Amino acid sequence: ITPLDVTEASLSHIEHFSKYNAFITVSKNLVENQAIQSERRYKDSKPLSELDGIPIAVKDNFCTQNIATTCASKMLENFKPTYDATVVQKLKQSGAIIMGKTNLDQFAMGSGTVDSIYGPAKNVWGYKSDSDFHIVGGSSGGSALAVATGMCYGAIGSDTGGSTRNPASYCGIVGLKPTYGLVSRYGLIPLVNSMDVPGILSRTVDDCVSILNTVAGFDSKDSTSLTKPYRKIRLPDARKMTVKGLKVGIPQEYFNEHLSTEVYEAWNEIANLLENNGAVVKQISLPNTEHSIVCYSILNQCEVASNMARYNGIQFGFRANENESTEKLFATTRSLGFNEVVRNRILTGNYFLLTRNYDKYFNKALKVRRLIANDFHAAWEKVQILLTPTTLTTAPFYSDFCKKTNRDQCAVQDYCTQPANMAGVPAISIPVKLSKTGLPISIQLIGRNLSEPMLLAVAKYLE
Ligand code: GLN
Repeated sequence: ITPLDVTEASLSHIEHFSKYNAFITVSKNLVENQAIQSERRYKDSKPLSELDGIPIAVKDNFCTQNIATTCASKMLENFKPTYDATVVQKLKQSGAIIMGKTNLDQFAMGSGTVDSIYGPAKNVWGYKSDSDFHIVGGSSGGSALAVATGMCYGAIGSDTGGSTRNPASYCGIVGLKPTYGLVSRYGLIPLVNSMDVPGILSRTVDDCVSILNTVAGFDSKDSTSLTKPYRKIRLPDARKMTVKGLKVGIPQEYFNEHLSTEVYEAWNEIANLLENNGAVVKQISLPNTEHSIVCYSILNQCEVASNMARYNGIQFGFRANENESTEKLFATTRSLGFNEVVRNRILTGNYFLLTRNYDKYFNKALKVRRLIANDFHAAWEKVQILLTPTTLTTAPFYSDFCKKTNRDQCAVQDYCTQPANMAGVPAISIPVKLSKTGLPISIQLIGRNLSEPMLLAVAKYLE
C-alpha cells in the first residue's frame, strides 16, 4: 500500500462520510500534488519521515497558505492566508498529506462543534438520523470525527479549555493537549493566547507520539515557545511496560455533581486497574478547582475582546456594505460577521476590562488562576500523575446540548479539562470503554510541565 493508495482511500472516506460534516475544505488538488511527490519518494525508498504519505487533517483555525481558513465564521469565510502555521509547515516538511480543514465552533468558542456557519458536525457513534445524533464535542470536533471515521490517520486541533480532549472523549479517540509552549502557536488564530495550544488527535498513542515528535519544538515566530530543545519521544513496547510504584493522584474535586454513574465507574475501574498492577493510587485535593470555570470565563472573554478587535472590516476578512461612516462600517461588519457567542464574549470582555472593573474582575481572575496553577504544583510533591474523567458524561444529543445556555454548556463540558489550561500542564484523553448505549467513555491523565514522555507511556499502558 503506497501513499497514493492511502490518499485515495482517505479521499473516498471523506466523500463517503460527508454528511457528518467533518470538513469545511478538502484541498483536493493540493492533496493530489502532495501524494504524487510522496509516492515518488516512496518508490525511491527515501521517505522524509515516518509521516511521509500519511493523511492528516487540520482544524480550520490554523492558517494554511492559499487554502481558506474560516474559523467557521462569516468574518473569515473568504480568508486565504499567505502563509502556513508552523505546525502545518512542519507536517508538510515531514511529507504528511494535509487533507483539508476541519469543522469547529466559530473561532473555537464552544464545546460541541455546533456553532459553525457550515452546520454542526455529527457523531458517528450512536447515529440514527440527521435529526437524531450525538454531538462530536468541540471545538475541534471536525478533527476528532475525521480521525474516528478513518478519514485521516491523525488531526491537529487546538485546546484552550478542553477543545482537543473533549471531542476526543466523545469520539472515542486519543486527544493530547501538550505543555503550553511546547508546540508553536504561530499561525493558530488566537482565542486565549495565554492558554491556547495546538492539540493532537489520533487513533492510538503511538500515532500521537509520531505527530508530536513532528510538530513540537522551539519556534522563533512564537514568543511563548519553549526554548529548551525538544527530545523526540520513543515509547517502550507495551508488553515491557510497568506502572509499579507509579504515584497516581485522584483529585477529589473532580467528583462533580453532574458526573454520570457510567463515567464515574469507568474512572474507578482504571484507578483499580492501576492499583492492581502496582501503582500507588491516592486521593488528593486541588481545592481551587471549583473556581476554575468562573475564572476561565473572565480571562477568556477579556482575551477574546482584545483578540477580536482586529476584525474591523478594513484590513482583511468580511466587510459589510456600509458607507455612511467608518464607525458604522465597523459595527455592521462585526455584528454580521460574528455569531452571538462571539459577540457576547466581546461585550462581556470589554466590560471586565473597563478601568473601573479591571481590578475587580481581570486582575482578580489572574490571581485565582495562580492559585489553580499552585494546586497542581503542590500535587506534584505527592504524586506523579493525576487520573480524572475527561468529560462528565458521554456525548449528549444535539437537541439537548443546544437547549442549554452557552454558560451552562461551558461549565458542564469543560469542568475536568479546563484547569490544565490554566496551569499550562499537559493532559491526555484516552478512550477506555463503551457505555451501555454504545458511546465511548474516556479518562484523562494530567502530568507536570514537560512530562509528555511519562504521560504518553501511561496512556499507552492503559490503551
Ligand atoms: N469550551 C471552551 C470555550 O468555549 C473551550 C474552547 C477551546 O478549548 N477552544 O472557551
